[in-house]
Amino acid sequence: MKLIFLGPPGAGKGTLALRAVDILKVQQISTGSIFRAAVAAGSPLGLKVKAIMDAGKLVDDETTIALVKERLAMDDVQKGYILDGFPRTIPQAEALASFSTVDKVVNFDIPDSGVLERLGGRRVCRKCGYNFHVIFNKPSKEGICDTCGGEIYTREDDKPEAIQKRLEVYRAQTEPLIDFYRKKGLLVDIDARPLVDEIVIEFKKVLGV
Ligand code: ADP
Ligand code: ZN
Repeated sequence: MKLIFLGPPGAGKGTLALRAVDILKVQQISTGSIFRAAVAAGSPLGLKVKAIMDAGKLVDDETTIALVKERLAMDDVQKGYILDGFPRTIPQAEALASFSTVDKVVNFDIPDSGVLERLGGRRVCRKCGYNFHVIFNKPSKEGICDTCGGEIYTREDDKPEAIQKRLEVYRAQTEPLIDFYRKKGLLVDIDARPLVDEIVIEFKKVLGV
């Protein structure tokens, strides 16, 4: 199954993607994680995108599209994938349609207040990318990932000014994709406010898996 996860930052796309990967036996492709790995590695791509990401802005379409096109050409994603964080603009969605088909687009619905609460408290494992939260999902040992033992940190773009910027960017550039995919009959809506276990149940129900 080929899925797109759409929704504002902090809607829980990445968290649900980790669960959905297990259920559907497909790969998760997170453009944000790929960019963060490039930044951590100090690669040419990383150097190019670091300041853009830290400010909460979008990497340019050309760079992002080329990256996803290359990833989707690999063997391990021919039967299915979850695209988490791509497409984020209409040009990205149009480009995607030219090199892959999509079965469903899952729209994670959450108000701005929910986004602010989640992103402000989000902490991420540097090694495996698992998302913790200072109130809702604490690690058993402070600062250390339960899953892999990696170090837990606050993303630069989870600081208040960047969160505001990301929400603005989402409303202006990404939200139009909801209509774009609804018109194609591909959109399914999920209420992203409940706890993740409940969302998993809803997810299985709407997708019939
Ligand atoms: P979020 O938690 O905001 O959903 P991600 O982890 O998906 O963030 O992405 C982090 C950052 O990576 C974005 O703010 C943006 O700078 C860059 N990025 C990720 N995906 C895309 C994309 N499809 N187009 C442009 N920039 C992207
Ligand atoms: Zn970890």
